[in-house]
Amino acid sequence: MYDIVVVGAGPAGMTAAIYARRAAKTVLVLEALNYGGQIVNTPDIENYPLESHISGFDFSAKVYEQAKGLGAEFVFEKVVEIRPEKDAKVIITPKNTYTAKTVILATGSENRKLGLEDEDKLVGRGVSYCATCDGNFYRNKVVAVVGGGNTALEDALYLADLAEKVYLIHRRDSFRGEEANAARLKEKKNVEFIYNANVTKLISEKRLKAIEVTDKIDGSIRTIELNGLFIAVGRIPENQNFAGLVKLDDAGYVIAGEDCHTNADGIFVAGDSRTKMLRQLVTATGDGAVAATEAVKYINNLETV
Ligand code: NAP
Repeated sequence: MYDIVVVGAGPAGMTAAIYARRAAKTVLVLEALNYGGQIVNTPDIENYPLESHISGFDFSAKVYEQAKGLGAEFVFEKVVEIRPEKDAKVIITPKNTYTAKTVILATGSENRKLGLEDEDKLVGRGVSYCATCDGNFYRNKVVAVVGGGNTALEDALYLADLAEKVYLIHRRDSFRGEEANAARLKEKKNVEFIYNANVTKLISEKRLKAIEVTDKIDGSIRTIELNGLFIAVGRIPENQNFAGLVKLDDAGYVIAGEDCHTNADGIFVAGDSRTKMLRQLVTATGDGAVAATEAVKYINNLETV
């Protein structure tokens, strides 16, 4: 029986493993794919304290080595079910069954994609899903944001202060995001709104250089030359296998506050897969520390009862 099983080897899960090992608890990290999570796709991290520049791949490798070096075990198997039983949590993968006193869910979330040809290939070469992470690379350049939720509005506001010009492309003529954000955006002289339209083609030569935008009403196609496209059409949390275990909100995020407690006894959640204001590397690692500390307290309480 492990003290703690961490589900997911992204920054949140690996940080949880580091904190748990430093508290001398036994830790198994179960990961479906590779360690690192979505941050491995980020070519340039420039907003994490202490590292003025590091790639997502190098960052992940360093954190992985740190967690391994402290004695965390990593097994690459997808968790398909977690069953809370009387004396233990039972964690099931297609190959094995594990038991633990506590579980930390750290499965992250995926960016919803537009599904365009070359969209994946152009990530880091003009296509981005994170204005806070990548906006600085587009200082005095031309960019577009696609989406109509708060993320798209806030991304457009953030980019309007950096870029020469920002197009905001939304598939309807009213925003899902807050009116206050839309009103602030309308005051920006370098923002052009394109309503009732979809981005239907990415045009590139090594990097993205233009997009085609199709008007949903009259079918006309406009080509816009630009340097960057920020896609902000929502996220998909990877919690589907835990819907019966912990409470999820309408969008599928595990409901938890800053203490990372879920509604289920002994089950904690860290990182992008929980309800939270800011989904960033630094908040994910912060959650990992909190969730592990809470899990350690939970185990120590069990031992004194
Ligand atoms: P969201 O609210 O789900 O909005 C996604 C937007 O993308 C919607 O406008 C949607 O259009 C559009 N969209 C979805 N699929 C699309 C597609 N295939 N092509 C084109 N457009 C597409 O997602 P979010 O903006 O990431 O926000 C997620 C949650 O976090 C929300 O509850 C939001 O309020 C919250 N949030 C809060 C803050 C804050 O409080 N400061 C900041 C950011 C986010 P439709 O409107 O037509 O469906």
